[in-house]
Amino acid sequence: MNDATPQRTSPPITRHLIDGRWTAPTGAGRVQLSNPATGEPSGWLAVGSAGDVDAAVKSATRAFEHGWRDTALADRIEVLERLVRVISTRREDFAQLISREIGAPIDFARAQQVDTAVRHIEATVEAARSLSPTVASPTYPADVVVYEPIGVAALITPWNWPLNQVVLKVAGALAAGCTIVLKPSELSFRTAILFAECLQDVGIPDGVFNVVVGDGTTGAALSAHPSIGAVSFTGSTATGRAVASSAIATMARLTLELGGKSPNLLFADCDLPTAIRQGVAHAFRNAGQSCNAASRMLIDRAIYDQAVALVVQAADATRVDRPDLPGAHIGPLVSQQQFDRVQAYIAQGVKSGARLIAGGPGSPASHPAGYYCRPTVFADVSPDMAIFQDEIFGPVLTLTPFDTEEEAIALANATRYGLAAFIQTRAPDRALRVAKRLHAGMVQINGASRAPGAPFGGVKQSGVGREAGVWGIRAFQEIKSISGIDQRHRPAVGLTA
Ligand code: NDP
Repeated sequence: MNDATPQRTSPPITRHLIDGRWTAPTGAGRVQLSNPATGEPSGWLAVGSAGDVDAAVKSATRAFEHGWRDTALADRIEVLERLVRVISTRREDFAQLISREIGAPIDFARAQQVDTAVRHIEATVEAARSLSPTVASPTYPADVVVYEPIGVAALITPWNWPLNQVVLKVAGALAAGCTIVLKPSELSFRTAILFAECLQDVGIPDGVFNVVVGDGTTGAALSAHPSIGAVSFTGSTATGRAVASSAIATMARLTLELGGKSPNLLFADCDLPTAIRQGVAHAFRNAGQSCNAASRMLIDRAIYDQAVALVVQAADATRVDRPDLPGAHIGPLVSQQQFDRVQAYIAQGVKSGARLIAGGPGSPASHPAGYYCRPTVFADVSPDMAIFQDEIFGPVLTLTPFDTEEEAIALANATRYGLAAFIQTRAPDRALRVAKRLHAGMVQINGASRAPGAPFGGVKQSGVGREAGVWGIRAFQEIKSISGIDQRHRPAVGLTA
C-alpha cells in the first residue's frame, strides 16, 4: 500500500499527537487512500518513522513516571466519564467519519460503531469502581497484594471497528494507570485522530495519550520498543505472531485479539426462522468484517434442507448499498486489498466443490465501482475446505450439516480459531453442555447479547488475554506482593488497620 510517488494534489492529512502537541510525521513513505464506496482516491497520508515512535514512547514514559502512575483511581475514572460526554456530543462526527473511512452504512455507524464504543467506556468505569488497588492476602494476613500500572502501553488497532477497538484498549489502560502510544490502522486513522481530539478536550495531561500513524514499519517499531510495558494488538493471527515475538524479546505483557471462524450451531429443536434471520445477519454484519462474525453455520441434518432454503431467502434479501444512505443494508469492504482477498476465497469455494447457493463472484450489478461484494453462501462445506478453515473477513457464510451432538461439537472445534461460538436450541441442558465443550472465549445462546463489560477474547489461535470490564483493566496492571508491612501503614495502602 506504500506509494513512493503519490499525486500531491492536496496536503497530507496525517497528524501525530506526541507529548500533547500535533506534529507532522517524519517517515519517508506515503500511502494513497481511497473511498471504499467509489474506489476513488480520497487523499494520501504521510507515515511516521521509528523516530516518531521513539519520541511518542519517551513522551509516554515521562508522563507515566512524573504523574499519571500516581493519580488516584477516582481521578482516572473522572477522565473516562468526561470522555463519554465528549464523545457523545461528537457522535455524529464520528459516525460520518467512520462511514466515509471504512464504508459502514451510516445508521450502523451511529448505532453500532459509535454507541457500542461509548457503552464500553461506561462499562470500564463501572468495572474500575468495583476494583480495589490492594487486597489482603487471604492466607497470610500480614501480606498485601498491590495492583500497579505496568507502564507505557502500546496499542495497535485495526480498521473494522475503528472507534470501538481503540476505546476497548484505551479505557482499560487509562483506568489501570498506564500511559499510551496508540498506532491505529492507516485505513481508519482519522477516527483515531478525532478520538485524540476528544481526549484533549477532556484535559488529558500531555504525554499520557500519544498517537502515531504509519504503514509498514511503525507497528513493529512500537511493539519492539524496549520501554514498552504492555502490548495490546487486534488484527490477523499472522501479524499477531510477529507482535508476540517482539513482546517476548522485551517480556512486555501481551494481549492479542486475533482472528476467528466462529461456529453457529443450529439444533433441530431451535426456533429455526429466528435462528436463520439472526445468524445470517450476524455473518454479514459490517460486511462480514468482524472478528466474531458467525461465519460457519452448522446445522442438524434433520432441518438442513429447510434451513438452506431459509438462508437463501435471508441472503438474497440482504441489501447492499451506499454507506451514506440510511437503512439496514451492508456497505462495501474497506479496501481493494480486502475485496481481492474475499473474491479469492469465493473463487476457491467454487473450485473446491462447495454448493454456491447465494451471491457469488464479483460486485453486485447495482454497484460495479467501489469495493462491494455480493452476500455469498456456500452449502455442503466440509472441514477440509479453506472456506471452512480460514477467516475470510467478508460477507461469506458456510453451511455444514451434522448428524449428532458429538459431531456438531467436533465440527465447531475443527479450526485453529476459538473466538466466539453461537448455539441455537430450545433445550437449556444441551445448550450448557455444548457451551462447556466448545473451544471459544465467548458463547452466546439463542441470540443473547453480550454485556458491554463481559470479557472479550479467544482461545487457541484467536489470541491471548481478554479485553473489556475488569479483565481489560487488569490486563494493564502488574501484581506486587508486599510482606512485612507495618500494621500502622495498612490504611495507607487501602486496607483496614
Ligand atoms: P494485520 O493483521 O496485518 O495488521 C496490520 C497492523 O499491524 C498495522 O497497524 C501494522 O503496523 C501492525 N503491525 C505489523 N507488524 C507488526 C509488528 N511486528 N508489531 C506490531 N504491529 C505490527 O491487518 P490488515 O489490516 O492487513 O488485515 C489483514 C487481515 O487481517 C484481514 O483480511 C482480516 O482477515 C484480518 N483482520 C482481523 C481483524 C480482527 O479483528 N480479528 C481486524 C483486522 C484484520 P504498520 O502498518 O506500521 O506495519
